[in-house]
Amino acid sequence: NANSLCTKHLTSSLGRSQDDTPYIRTGAASPLELIRMAIQDPAESAFFVVDVDEVVNKLREWQAHLPRVTPYYAVKCNPDVAVLQTLAQLGCNFDCASKEEISNVLALGVSPSRIIYANPCKQPSHLRYSRNVDVNLTTFDCEDELHKIYKFNPKAELLLRISVDDSSAVCNLSCKYGALPSSAEELLTVAKRLGLNVRGVSFHVGSGCKEPSAFVEAVKSASQVFTEARQFGLRMDILDVGGGFPGMDTSELKFKTIAQRLNGALDSYFPHGCGVRLIAEPGRFLVSSSHTLAVNVIGRKASNTTSAPSTMYFVNDGVYGSFNCLLYDHAEVEAKALKMGDGTATSVPDLQASSVWGPTCDGLDCIVPQTKLPQLQVGDWLYFENMGAYTSAAGSRFNGMELPGKLYMASTSAYESDEESLASA
Ligand code: PLP
Repeated sequence: NANSLCTKHLTSSLGRSQDDTPYIRTGAASPLELIRMAIQDPAESAFFVVDVDEVVNKLREWQAHLPRVTPYYAVKCNPDVAVLQTLAQLGCNFDCASKEEISNVLALGVSPSRIIYANPCKQPSHLRYSRNVDVNLTTFDCEDELHKIYKFNPKAELLLRISVDDSSAVCNLSCKYGALPSSAEELLTVAKRLGLNVRGVSFHVGSGCKEPSAFVEAVKSASQVFTEARQFGLRMDILDVGGGFPGMDTSELKFKTIAQRLNGALDSYFPHGCGVRLIAEPGRFLVSSSHTLAVNVIGRKASNTTSAPSTMYFVNDGVYGSFNCLLYDHAEVEAKALKMGDGTATSVPDLQASSVWGPTCDGLDCIVPQTKLPQLQVGDWLYFENMGAYTSAAGSRFNGMELPGKLYMASTSAYESDEESLASA
């Protein structure tokens, strides 16, 4: 099992998280190298390699390109305790969707003032809990939610979530959440009548947003709500630009491009010195690249459904487990064979038409319907990069299948220097 192997072969922990998950200084230069070290054991179970440095790097990238915008990591994206602990230690704030997420973040010693309860529709008992633990910043998008907040946490500080154009995004959210900006005045009137403290506006351009201009238009729309509120005697001071930032750069879409466009819009509509604090709720951006998933080939057979010969490989994680991202997150994943090496080898094995399937008895459980792979044997390994977002967060054990364990890697240099800088802050 990957985790026992982790403690057996890889020693020298950097620190310990709440559930005693070790950060490991592995000496491995890359996730691939760590996978190779791990499978020297007679291992079979699928496992993630979590590269904690990647999370640190992504937070730094955020700070470099969006220096005016304070990130609140969207815990739902990947509640891995080592990820949360790393972000907490680096001073990142958190966006929680439920009582459990709030409680897990507080357990890391994070102050309640660093948490936003950014679920526009909150379960009453969770709202009561948030009041008891002093997590007061939250979102709403309708009148009923205002009455609920008034009843269960009247000292809440509110952000009005508005709906924005999310048509370019892979996952739409405005079909469910966000008040029409035209209803803002009505909602602010109700909030005022109830004596609730509305601090600002939030939006989400959809997860996996493909169009930088969506952020620009959303900021413009939010600024109109700020203007309306001012005319109405309400001075708001927080703008929350949500999530939607890409997990990986592609040739068509780069984080830097989105950041430039967003910065431009913020500088026009919410210039320096305007008295409005800028925050965001990135999920995928911070964690996608930190996880590599290794799966074991547990079976193979010739396909009898395609006219051209093709091999079906069965592996021990699938769409009911970590690859739920194929269904819920509309993800596309690339299977790589460990025996292919890291791309630097001079001789490449013959590639053959193949498909990759999960371990359950369901025909839906297909990970990659068509690809090219070298000929694999039972016991060989495949790996999938950029598997940190919306994967393990929602995996089930359907058919009694095991969920992957995790191996953690972190270089000390990046991490320790941040600890030092935080300590001296
Ligand atoms: N904030 C809220 C309220 C969300 O619903 C989500 C994702 O669904 C996020 C933030 C994170 O979005 P992303 O992973 O696209 O950055």
